[in-house]
Amino acid sequence: MLYERYRPYRFDQVLGQDRTTPILKAQTKLNRFAHSYLLFGPSGTGKTTVARIMAMAMNCQHSDGTGEPCGECQSCRAIREHRSWDVQEIDSGRFRGIDDIKGLVYKSYLSPVGKRKIYILDECQQLTREAWGSLLKLLEEPPPHLCLILSTTDDLTGGRIPETAISRCELFPFVRLKAGDMKARLRLIASGERISIDDSWLDWVISFAQGNLRSAETELEKLLILGGSDEHKQLCATA
Ligand SMILES: [Zn+2]
Repeated sequence: MLYERYRPYRFDQVLGQDRTTPILKAQTKLNRFAHSYLLFGPSGTGKTTVARIMAMAMNCQHSDGTGEPCGECQSCRAIREHRSWDVQEIDSGRFRGIDDIKGLVYKSYLSPVGKRKIYILDECQQLTREAWGSLLKLLEEPPPHLCLILSTTDDLTGGRIPETAISRCELFPFVRLKAGDMKARLRLIASGERISIDDSWLDWVISFAQGNLRSAETELEKLLILGGSDEHKQLCATA
């Protein structure tokens, strides 16, 4: 998938999250990480991407002092290719029960292979109340090598994520991407894939995607398969 192939692996490559990425980069530079983070905002705005960059930055073996992970060392590559022993991504929609979280809590105390063990819990608002009870203990007293990165599309006001959990995390908001940033990104990918895209197609996709970059990149993928913007627009118009 295009959004996987062109997924950023440095904080500076992440578009449109100026209230978040500079702070995380500065934390990396100072090697001052929190034990738990909560990334919140709409879908397709880069939360999982940033969580993976954070994981790379925390465990990078060739950090150059700029606050960015190298992206190429053994640890960074393992994380990019989803085969790291230390980094686990959990889809909280599927693994939402107390037994899932109890297993996670148990494993969290085992020593990491690298510097830190990092758990990324996507869509954490879907965890059950009992699962939150178990996770809260970990948020309150995490082992020194553990970092929990929770992410959610919830707006944090509906009570689906317990207040006690929110208060234990450093909060980072994510916002919908601006049209200019999305256009620049789509043009970059199109150039890498040698696809020609015209302005009217770009305007159409930007308006369709509503600030969701992953959704726009998925439309570009369809364009690539169909081989032209007119065919793509026609297909979507009749869908
Ligand atoms: Zn590295």
